[in-house]
Amino acid sequence: MDGNLVLVVNSGSSSIKYQLVDPASGAVEAAGLVERIGEAGGAIEHRTDGRTVSEQVSIPDHTAGLRLAFAKFAETGHDLTAAGVTAVGHRVVHGGEVFYRPTLVDAGVLAAIEDLSALAPLHNPANVRGIEAVCTLLPNVPQVAVFDTAFFHGLPDAAKTYAIDAKVAETHGIRRYGFHGTSHEYVSGRVAEFLGRPAGSLNQIVFHLGNGASVSALRGGRPVDTSMGLTPLEGLVMGTRSGDLDPGIILHLMRTAHLDVNGVDRLLNRGSGLRGMAGVNDFRELRRLIGEGDDNARLAYDVYVHRLRRYLGAYLIELGGVDAITFTAGVGENNPDVRADALAGLSRFGIAVDPDRNTAKDRSARRISPLDAEVEVLVVPTNEELAIARAAAAVTATV
Ligand code: ADP
Repeated sequence: MDGNLVLVVNSGSSSIKYQLVDPASGAVEAAGLVERIGEAGGAIEHRTDGRTVSEQVSIPDHTAGLRLAFAKFAETGHDLTAAGVTAVGHRVVHGGEVFYRPTLVDAGVLAAIEDLSALAPLHNPANVRGIEAVCTLLPNVPQVAVFDTAFFHGLPDAAKTYAIDAKVAETHGIRRYGFHGTSHEYVSGRVAEFLGRPAGSLNQIVFHLGNGASVSALRGGRPVDTSMGLTPLEGLVMGTRSGDLDPGIILHLMRTAHLDVNGVDRLLNRGSGLRGMAGVNDFRELRRLIGEGDDNARLAYDVYVHRLRRYLGAYLIELGGVDAITFTAGVGENNPDVRADALAGLSRFGIAVDPDRNTAKDRSARRISPLDAEVEVLVVPTNEELAIARAAAAVTATV
């Protein structure tokens, strides 16, 4: 196996996604998903050299999950412990005020990531479990934490400050942190490359529309606003998350429906968004239901698009004009209706979508605005794994 490969690990509460990537070329040597860790029906799916190996097996914890993944690497001719892996890059969701660049992991860093768990109770502990597991399996390979919040560290004060009691905010670390930063950074960089213009010269709006969804406004390559806040719950309508709502709704539900903290958490994080309104969280399912004439699905779609347009309007004004609007992630890359509806009727702002370009079956970075439009509208596939691999390689190259 070739040297200089990076193992990228995205460790969630009950799953681990991983990829073995060549950071220079972007080639993916192998990739996989370990699911239902600590639950019934544990499973792994490992893909390499055009074939997929699957197994159903009980997976008690993250170490067992990664051990299983390492076994699949070995079985398929990529023994990770033998050669080639120069770094491991971990996606870590919350870096708080502490971490704002990719960071080489040591015991102190690991403890600090664990300490930030109050801000990301589902994510940070799972990220820590993943790092600990890799420490056991690859003790001599440097590990780098790449934070979802880091790109937004320098948000202007006016954009990151919530209008609540300043002392309460300071004591509890309450501010807008932003998430999906690795994707927003990668995609906005690709936009500059695609257009052949320096990132510093561009005003951009980037819509990352996956299961989770967020939008960012960038001036000269740096974010000036983003839709996710203290947690990844704020902002756009998502698969299962509400995004923005009146905080009074929470008080009302606590008083009248007697929901406790877990009940509110479940409702807003898992039982809202498209799933809450239409019963499905997958966009393909939503489109199918709309095709069958389902009114709830239609309304959910309309609410989703309405929220996109509300943010678009806000960010257009914050930036004072935009050079490029870009769609990325599962829905953004694959759903032409969302792109067309989000930008419909905006020609007076120089914004238009060309119907043929928008519906062309093309998977690469592409322009979907008419050639003579003032604002470039683009579709750019995100690649968070490659961005993490490159960040990890850059950090380890300097130590
Ligand atoms: P995440 O990484 O947040 O889990 P993704 O970026 O993979 O999410 O996006 C998942 C969403 O993208 C789902 O709602 C799914 O329906 C949608 N999606 C993925 N592929 C397609 C496709 N080919 N056509 C339409 N929607 C798609």
